[in-house]
Amino acid sequence: MFSKILIANRGEIAVRVIRTARRLGVATVAVYSDADAGALHVAEADEAVRIGGAPVADSYLQADAIIAAAKVTGAEAIHPGYGFLSENPEFVEKVSEAGLTFIGPSADAIRAMGLKDAAKALMETALVPVVPGYHGERQEPEFLAAQAEGIGYPVLVKARAGGGGKGMRKVDAPDQFADALAGAQREARASFGDDRVLIEKYVTSPRHIEIQVFGDQHGNAVHLFERDCSLQRRHQKVIEEAPAPGMTDEMRAAMGDAAVKAAKAIGYSGAGTVEFIVDGSDGLLPDRFWFMEMNTRLQVEHPVTEAITGLDLVELQLRVASGEALPFSQSDLVIDGHAFEARVYAEDVPKGFLPAIGTLDHLRFAMTARNDTGVREGDEITPYYDPMIAKVIVHGRSRDEALAKMRVSLAETQIAGTVTNKAFLSALCRHEGFSRGEVDTGLIDRDLEQLVHEGEAPVLAQAVAAIAVLGLAAGESHADPWTSLSGWRLWGAAQHFVKLVQGTAVFDLRVSLRNSRDFKVSSPTNAINLSLVARTPGRMIVDGHAQPLRYAASQTSGRISQVSVFLNGDTYVFDVPDGVSDAGETGSGDDIRAPMPGLVKQVRVKPGDQVVKGDALAVLEAMKMEHTLTAARDGSVSEVFVSDGDQVSDGDLLVSLEPEKE
Ligand code: ADP
Repeated sequence: MFSKILIANRGEIAVRVIRTARRLGVATVAVYSDADAGALHVAEADEAVRIGGAPVADSYLQADAIIAAAKVTGAEAIHPGYGFLSENPEFVEKVSEAGLTFIGPSADAIRAMGLKDAAKALMETALVPVVPGYHGERQEPEFLAAQAEGIGYPVLVKARAGGGGKGMRKVDAPDQFADALAGAQREARASFGDDRVLIEKYVTSPRHIEIQVFGDQHGNAVHLFERDCSLQRRHQKVIEEAPAPGMTDEMRAAMGDAAVKAAKAIGYSGAGTVEFIVDGSDGLLPDRFWFMEMNTRLQVEHPVTEAITGLDLVELQLRVASGEALPFSQSDLVIDGHAFEARVYAEDVPKGFLPAIGTLDHLRFAMTARNDTGVREGDEITPYYDPMIAKVIVHGRSRDEALAKMRVSLAETQIAGTVTNKAFLSALCRHEGFSRGEVDTGLIDRDLEQLVHEGEAPVLAQAVAAIAVLGLAAGESHADPWTSLSGWRLWGAAQHFVKLVQGTAVFDLRVSLRNSRDFKVSSPTNAINLSLVARTPGRMIVDGHAQPLRYAASQTSGRISQVSVFLNGDTYVFDVPDGVSDAGETGSGDDIRAPMPGLVKQVRVKPGDQVVKGDALAVLEAMKMEHTLTAARDGSVSEVFVSDGDQVSDGDLLVSLEPEKE
């Protein structure tokens, strides 16, 4: 076993690797960018080395700086985590040339699976079933369109260098092919610097089922069963589980054999995942699965496999990389119970899942789950990296038990200081089809409206927020809190007005103070009386409510700008406008502004164009994803303020529509 390793990553995966290393008595070296100097992974490692500026190109992708850090600190091996340099064969070669061990497969194995087209060709020769389609050299649009015709619509255009669902477009009919191809190529070029694509038959009722494989340097390879990752949005995984609902022994054996065959075909060593697409229209049948790709690294969702096998995959990675043989054979492995993982992100779901940023003013995880995270309370979610906050992982004896645990765990996860996708994840866990185990990759899209609908905050939540905003609940720890409140008359009139914004809803509330502990909070349609019994920071105990009411207030420039109220497992986030800037920015639909900093990829309209609600006006690329900005209403374009290639900031005006006539 190694005595010291360097982790060439950040966030939750760096922390997760460090914890296993520490348990095994292996010393750890973290690397960090300027934005991460105070990050959790830096705090948890035994040593840490700065490798560059905040952008990933200046730091976590700086192979030479990372290798130099390993040399300087005397680390013997480098764990790449996932993403960044984890599937970069040149990096693997540089690591070995420096006399260090790469904790992962060989450069050749990575190369063999690096491009989807070559990988498919290789798998065909290894007799692993692959998705029918075209994965050859030719790239002329007319030729590819003819291939699509031959394969039969719907088809999927895929970037051969793709990952994370980028550079992928489903095409339903020939007249959409040219646009979809151009879009996939554009995204592929931006994300991977390689715009070559393959065309695949689009499998109907598709399920994404992947097999965890493990190989060692002694020629052994086994599989650690499957994970079902069918709950996806824009081809990205949202909730993963193991085992797959409806899996049969026969299907599992067939898929496991195919995956081990794939791993053996490239002499695979370490942890890897073979991803299959499955036609689930008639249940799971052994002749209805096809190889999509192999990920030659540890996968984000590996904890569900750990939960059902009781194994620590990072420990196995370290053992195998240091030359040990796998400590078990296939027949030793058994599945215990059922596990789920939900990915909690800083994301504005109602705004189309836009990545969000913010300072985590309040962060609590549930005791019922394993919570893999790279952040602590007070840490910041920055625009530089993936906005993941945590992976919530649960295990139960049955699928129902595990899912019930996930519902509770999400409800008990409290995050303030940024919007998150928690409500969406909770809605998914309550989805009837999903609860019955009827999963396919189209589930989220089909029921998107219902899943992203964030209910209007109940009047109790509004009231808690209003009281917090007025500072009437700020819990100083006086022996008798009421004496500190006796100055409430200093507020002047015993009535205050508070405006709260929750998404597109605006609440104008009146708070009347009857005395130092009794408040009446009224809106134009509703009123509620609250009688405070006790209060500490973030908590009010209110007459008639068995549970304390919890909230967290976030400050910007010395004033409360946002309040999150945690009520019955839901989080309601209220923005508190500062009185001047809120008018006109959201409501009318006259102005289309950049929802986040990014690059204008394409302006679709010019002044004078007539548009209808939902029409695409511009395409913005931000965080390597394309976001289409659409018209909020019918109208005519009055002005276009940007051109293709412009860099824009959050809130910049892009397009305006003629004001609506009365
Ligand atoms: P990436 O490397 O970008 O993650 P994958 O090839 O792994 O791309 O595919 C991502 C997802 O896209 C899959 O999980 C599946 O939901 C969907 N997908 C991929 N290929 C097909 C196909 N041929 N038919 C239907 N869905 C597919």
